[in-house]
Amino acid sequence: MKYFVLFGPPGAGKGTQAGAMVERYNLCHLSTGELLRAEISAGTPLGLEAKSLIEAGNLVPDSVVEGMIESKFRETKGVDGFLLDGFPRTIAQAQSLDGMLAKTSETVSGCISIMIPDSLIHERIAHRALIEGRADDAKDEIVSNRIQTYHSKTEPLIDYYRKAGKYFEIDGTGSIEEVRQRLFDAMDKL
Ligand code: AMP
Repeated sequence: MKYFVLFGPPGAGKGTQAGAMVERYNLCHLSTGELLRAEISAGTPLGLEAKSLIEAGNLVPDSVVEGMIESKFRETKGVDGFLLDGFPRTIAQAQSLDGMLAKTSETVSGCISIMIPDSLIHERIAHRALIEGRADDAKDEIVSNRIQTYHSKTEPLIDYYRKAGKYFEIDGTGSIEEVRQRLFDAMDKL
């Protein structure tokens, strides 16, 4: 099985590109943000716990997302791998992922990073807010908190995967098609 980590700041275009990637490589798309939003919509206890954290632009506890990912790994059949979108988001989550995969002597195939400058993050999220209606996209201070959380807790993962020789960075500026082609060029080699 292949395990691709799709990495990048909020608004980089991970969700936009994921569909084409899962289709081309027969992957299961696992977005922890989407899984959490589904729990919130369903009104589950986990959703209730996550709601206020997400709406404030903070991360939910590592153990919550790690549990969701591990059960999806167990349940999912008939794919050649997984596209992890929005997970891992902390060094602890990355270590936990390595631990989960080690149980079956597997490893992360590569961390594919879509990179855009901070100035474009605000612009992309403001655009998405009009289309998707996500509560955590709507307020400037919440978006700023998410960007700050990305820099302090998630960006250190770049070094984590770089040291493992598994970090591949893609320029996320330009058209959706241009970015998609850059992603395919990188993933074809993995
Ligand atoms: P996303 O859809 O990936 O932008 O995620 C939306 C929100 O869900 C984030 O701002 C976090 O509050 C929460 N979230 C998603 N994935 C994770 C994760 N791996 N660890 C902690 N919180 C997460």
